[in-house]
Amino acid sequence: MESYKEPLRELARPYRKAVLKALLVLTIMGGALFAALNISTGSYVLAAVEMAMGAYAIFVFRAIRYTRHLERWIIAYAIPFFTAMMFAMITPRATSTVHAWVLLIPIISHLLMGRRLGLAVAVFYMSVAAIIFMFKHQGQADMMQALPITNIAVISLCILVFSHVYEVTREQSERQLLKIAQTDTLTGLANRARLSDIFEREQQRARRYNTPITILALDLDHFKAVNDRYGHETGDMALQHVARIFRECLRATDLPARLGGEEFGILLTNTNSQQGLEVAEKIRVAVASTPLHVNNDVIRLTLSGGVAEFGTDGDTLRDLVREADRRLYHAKDAGRNQIIPADNRHPGNVS
Ligand code: GH3
Ligand code: MG
Ligand code: MG
Repeated sequence: MESYKEPLRELARPYRKAVLKALLVLTIMGGALFAALNISTGSYVLAAVEMAMGAYAIFVFRAIRYTRHLERWIIAYAIPFFTAMMFAMITPRATSTVHAWVLLIPIISHLLMGRRLGLAVAVFYMSVAAIIFMFKHQGQADMMQALPITNIAVISLCILVFSHVYEVTREQSERQLLKIAQTDTLTGLANRARLSDIFEREQQRARRYNTPITILALDLDHFKAVNDRYGHETGDMALQHVARIFRECLRATDLPARLGGEEFGILLTNTNSQQGLEVAEKIRVAVASTPLHVNNDVIRLTLSGGVAEFGTDGDTLRDLVREADRRLYHAKDAGRNQIIPADNRHPGNVS
């Protein structure tokens, strides 16, 4: 089960907020400075736009303090900000150096909006700026020469490309770090943090489409004895062996996770508790009938498990794991190597 999209957005939030705040402060200060300069030269309309942008920046600065919709505020600020920049270029009194501001567009938009939206917004506004430049300076021989135009175009393109590559690699390394942080190093299975993230996403989907979710809690039987007899390293290999069996028995949309030690949790989407019991039984039989061969030893493993269904047994992962665990302990009490189903009445066959 892939997709680190939601947690990635969460991770990007504080850093995007910091960039937005810096931009807001600069707008407030720059807006005041430029408004004063423009008033002194008689560009009242432009001064009014700059002061309006400054006032809006103060408003946004307050609004984003506790917002849960940072992405919307970023768009609500960046679009008027870039539009005001375009407006500054159109005004007849503006000097041609105003175009230097265009170079900020790709940097700001990538930092604030990420690689996709950032690129789209940057390309859009840079194109608009290019069109404005052409219209404004057509017929001005000194501005419309090949060399200065090529210079501006190449510099703009370089900054666009560097901003984009930076953002792409930043997102990649963030995704990589997130993956490491959410993976169990020994087995390569998801860890508890990832199970919890995916559960949050899946439970929303389950509510919306009214589909079932089942959680399995599985624990290896007498695993301490395996360690004691064959050593901790072989114990580790046994955990990897079991993880491999899980993957073979599950669909791509199921998520097996190592919750700690020799206990595992499996999230089964689109699966009711009856079907979940069948999956758990399949895993139980596969583990019991696939011994691990290490050196000349044949290590037989079994596991016990419990099943819990979203809705009937609880709405949070914590409640579901607790219920599944409770049944898992019943399975241990009842002699191990068995699964206790969600309705608690028909324990799986002992074989
Ligand atoms: P039960 O059937 O009641 O579950 O018995 P058990 O021996 O499996 O349970 P217990 O909780 O007493 O022991 C779990 C053992 O799992 C203890 C520890 O040595 C072992 N264990 C936990 N984590 C690891 C690990 O990462 N590697 C290895 N090799 N062993 C581990
Ligand atoms: Mg155990
Ligand atoms: Mg245990």
